[in-house]
Amino acid sequence: MAHTPRLFFGIALPETLQQELVHWRAAQFTAEAGKPVAAANLHLTLAFLGDVSAEKSQQLQRLAARIQQPAFNLHLDDAGHWPRPGVVWLGCRQAPRGLLQLAALLRSQAARSGCYQSPLPFHPHITLLRGAHQPVAVPPRGFHWSCVIEHFHLFASEQTQGRTRYRSLAQWPLLS
Ligand code: ATP
Ligand code: MG
Repeated sequence: MAHTPRLFFGIALPETLQQELVHWRAAQFTAEAGKPVAAANLHLTLAFLGDVSAEKSQQLQRLAARIQQPAFNLHLDDAGHWPRPGVVWLGCRQAPRGLLQLAALLRSQAARSGCYQSPLPFHPHITLLRGAHQPVAVPPRGFHWSCVIEHFHLFASEQTQGRTRYRSLAQWPLLS
């Protein structure tokens, strides 16, 4: 039986930023707040695809390779808590247009290729904590990280020994 990997388009964060975020998170949240996402797994999802056949994955990669969208500056200056999914997140007060356009394009290509897309509005975010179903004190605004995003990736979400790991299958440049 052919294995259908679990795929998503997303943005990788530079390792230095991942480390900074992990240190900041440790200072901001107690252990009861939720389960910290591993540093290497800190990412931003652009379009979730789900379990995708090899053929459909190839088709989506061909479409992704034709995308011509500008690089953008990601300002991480907002945080919040979604108690229902139990997520504490980091995001942008005002998402860059380049990010929203890129996500919209990937999500519409995914939908047209038959990958279910949530009807909820896209809220770009980096998940910091999972399993945060109890009230959490969200750090007050005033923090700020910035990085230039010049690529996007197709990731496979894989489970090894009970741990989730994202493997980049392909990446494409944004226009600078
Ligand atoms: P876990 O293995 O604990 O589920 P995970 O949620 O990080 O870890 P995936 O479920 O494979 O791993 O999800 C990969 C990415 O896609 C994550 O950013 C996740 O938030 C997002 N995602 C997962 N399911 C959906 C969905 N149905 N709609 C939109 N985004 C999703
Ligand atoms: Mg999940």
